[in-house]
Amino acid sequence: MSYPIYGRIDGPIVIIGFGSIGRGTLPLIERHFEYDAKNIHVVDPSDANANFLRQRGVQYHRIEITPDNYREVLDSFFKDAPGGFCVNLSVDVGSLDMMRHCRKLGTLYIDTVIEPWKGWYFDDTLAPAERTNYALRETVRAEKRANPGGTTAVSCCGANPGMVSWFVKEALLNLARDTGRDVAVPASREGWAMLMRDLGVKGIHIAERDTQAPSYPKPMGTFVNTWSVEGFLAEGFQPAELGWGTHERWMPENATGHETGCQAAIFMDHPGALTRVHTWCPTPGPQYGFLVTHNEAVSIADYYTVGEGATPEYRPTCHYAYHPSNMAVLSLHECFGSGEMQTTHKILDENEIVEGVDELGVLLFGHEKNAYWYGSRLSMAETRELAPFQNATGLQVTSAVLAGMVWALENPEAGIVETDEMDHARCLEVQKPYLGPVEGHYTDWTPISARWDRFREDIDTEDPWQFRNILAS
Ligand code: NAD
Repeated sequence: MSYPIYGRIDGPIVIIGFGSIGRGTLPLIERHFEYDAKNIHVVDPSDANANFLRQRGVQYHRIEITPDNYREVLDSFFKDAPGGFCVNLSVDVGSLDMMRHCRKLGTLYIDTVIEPWKGWYFDDTLAPAERTNYALRETVRAEKRANPGGTTAVSCCGANPGMVSWFVKEALLNLARDTGRDVAVPASREGWAMLMRDLGVKGIHIAERDTQAPSYPKPMGTFVNTWSVEGFLAEGFQPAELGWGTHERWMPENATGHETGCQAAIFMDHPGALTRVHTWCPTPGPQYGFLVTHNEAVSIADYYTVGEGATPEYRPTCHYAYHPSNMAVLSLHECFGSGEMQTTHKILDENEIVEGVDELGVLLFGHEKNAYWYGSRLSMAETRELAPFQNATGLQVTSAVLAGMVWALENPEAGIVETDEMDHARCLEVQKPYLGPVEGHYTDWTPISARWDRFREDIDTEDPWQFRNILAS
């Protein structure tokens, strides 16, 4: 096979964190960039992959990055070596500090979440508002405002957050075409926001169904997932959080907005992994998802706002609606039921998964064609054909990292950017060969069209797309 080479990375390429995502990203970097073999490094306190890395000629450094040593570690790689790239795929390593220092060194930077330093997610002294992704994102937005331009740092460029922001743009253009509008591709944030408003989109679910499964049943006492268990537990225990649209006329009693910042989101005094919503994906049709907080719920609502602040002219509701693998659902059930987090963690890899698809897309709803899902339906079988060392969930993430790296190399002085702010067409051009079928599906489903009606529910029948109807009782 021959693969496109997207550019040359002259300095060190340092992958921080070599878990399920790091392992899958490495072969894509090897495939698609030119670099000197001696220049590729992995930093991780776990030596679980030390032999694997040695066999591939990658230099492995057993270091736990902390608030005390991150500057020194980054300096040791990048200070006298221009043209490098820091690829942060770890947990427990503060993204803001890392990107700030990389930019100071003139080193390109990318991550897949705004990760706080170790301990933040379960710090009982923090109020719920302080434990939101809104709060984390505002720190990065403030840094962008304080230090505009300069070396590119791509924030939150995985599948979601990440790729789904590119899907939203593609879905809007498809919807415009399918409703007979002749629209030019918007050239500004304001233009995209007005397009979404003019199309009548009330809200967006990041709607995902993961059906990947191994041949054995879930072992009792083990948390099983298709990506970072630590990452999923951390976000699952954060307050449920969503971008809050201007069409909403009811708010949950336990929800609160924000006094400062972009004010595009609200959060609930309830963990996301215990907050179910009605949603829709092509294979299952109607399904439950968990309203787990994610950066993109806030960033997309903010990006597509017409006007400003708490009462803009237009803003879509936006949130994650995640049906993880059945084993992960059972793992959450066990975790919340027992009141204790499992200490044995298992990420299902490509050698164990015997079936399944990760169906991950954006469901744009409330417009004249009702609802439109656009996304990737990548199976484990197809993933095996496309790239090594990962499952379907992983490849949706790692190919977004690849696309983000290509974009950063091509735009090295863009400052701090979120994926909403990047050229979605270029990024998807790089990523799509790794996404399996990327498809759009219209549906006549609404959150009040497929419910059990034995018991009376307090729903709004006049506007099916109210969050009141989406939030499951
Ligand atoms: P993982 O748990 O498999 O691996 C994390 C790795 O980080 C581990 O190897 C661990 O040893 C390492 N690590 C822990 N502390 C460290 C430290 N102080 N310094 C350096 N390395 C450290 O996780 P994963 O599934 O590979 O996910 C990696 C990151 O990507 C997580 O933050 C996760 O939330 C994020 N992620 C994002 C998306 C997305 O779509 N945006 C999807 C999946 C994962």
